[in-house]
Amino acid sequence: MATYKIVLFYGFTPLAAPESVRLWQQALGERWGLTGRVIVSKHGINATLGGTVENLKQYVRTTRQHPGFEDIDVKWSDGTGADFPRLSVKVRPELVSFGVPDEVEVDEHGVVGGGVHLSPDEVDALVAERDDVVFFDGRNAFEAAIGRFRGAVVPDVRTTRDFVDQIDSGRFDHLKDRPVVTYCTGGVRCEVLSAIMRKRGFEEVYQVDGGIVRYAEARGADGLWEGSLYVFDERRHVEFADDVVPLGSCVVCSAPAARYENCADASCKTLRLACAECTPVVMSQRCEVCVAERPESFVPRPTARAAASAPA
Ligand SMILES: [Zn+2]
Ligand SMILES: [Zn+2]
Repeated sequence: MATYKIVLFYGFTPLAAPESVRLWQQALGERWGLTGRVIVSKHGINATLGGTVENLKQYVRTTRQHPGFEDIDVKWSDGTGADFPRLSVKVRPELVSFGVPDEVEVDEHGVVGGGVHLSPDEVDALVAERDDVVFFDGRNAFEAAIGRFRGAVVPDVRTTRDFVDQIDSGRFDHLKDRPVVTYCTGGVRCEVLSAIMRKRGFEEVYQVDGGIVRYAEARGADGLWEGSLYVFDERRHVEFADDVVPLGSCVVCSAPAARYENCADASCKTLRLACAECTPVVMSQRCEVCVAERPESFVPRPTARAAASAPA
């Protein structure tokens, strides 16, 4: 039986012809039967792909032959073969959408002016040595709701585009002379976020090398990471140890929960946390926003209909 894996990687390097890189990546993905998402921009490449381990290895080996991609750090995790609905390869103005494509500067060493990369050992050493270290979550607030670094500051962002406004608002100015450790899922968002923060006067900015994935895999339940890691694929969340108590709570019964379910309205993007027991209920109901805005009619999500008729 085939073994399915997921690879997560990014590389910041100037690309003169992003469109030709897109065509090449699309062809590679199709050739090896991969699914998932690849973003290409003038700043490099960012990818999350699933497939068989053999095919992914061929894909990674070929991708590394491209100038600037030789040293790409690839993170591997277990997949099911059905983690992504399709293959999507796109050219975008930014690898991650902070809304500042012209502010980010990239050279052959990566993002110019980014935070210092810290390995898991270096993260722990910094926190042990200094009592004013602050973790800064570089993700959306709903991701941090189920897992985050101990004591982390979680900005009130719905999408990555909200970060610049949040930082410019001055609400984090009191952190400007403290050691700030930014972190995100696999590290790509903090490559940009840490540069944005340094440019705005944060004096000592770090980033967790390889992100939460690298740190939590090294530490399991024994480190400074607490709870579950949200992921944007069918796995929904990843655990790094047995018996992790989720930091989130079920919208119905308040029990600890780590799994987000969609609102039952097909046109709504609201995600709500549900414990295993309440999942069928949450999937079959609409969120408060929908009910308030469209009290009469709505188009149910196909999965919501299935959940509603399933035995609870
Ligand atoms: Zn519940
Ligand atoms: Zn809704």
